[in-house]
Amino acid sequence: MNIPGTNQQINIDIASCRDFKCVECGGIYFSELKFFKIVSKLMSPSGEAFPVPIPVLKCDMCGKIHDVDTIKSIIETPDISNI
Ligand SMILES: [Zn+2]
Repeated sequence: MNIPGTNQQINIDIASCRDFKCVECGGIYFSELKFFKIVSKLMSPSGEAFPVPIPVLKCDMCGKIHDVDTIKSIIETPDISNI
């Protein structure tokens, strides 16, 4: 398995990893979506405005959108019921 952002190959027993769960309903199925921020001409290094995609996860059970901050807090919060 490739670790994102590296070229390292390591063996991870994915079955032993805990599930990523929705903060609202505890659902475990998500759709990957993106929303876009528009970088204005004034902020852009090229002087041209352009859209930047921001990845989010949408719970397929309740529709809750998990943004980057929510995803990070879920990942960093130990879930002792599911280790
Ligand atoms: Zn949910």
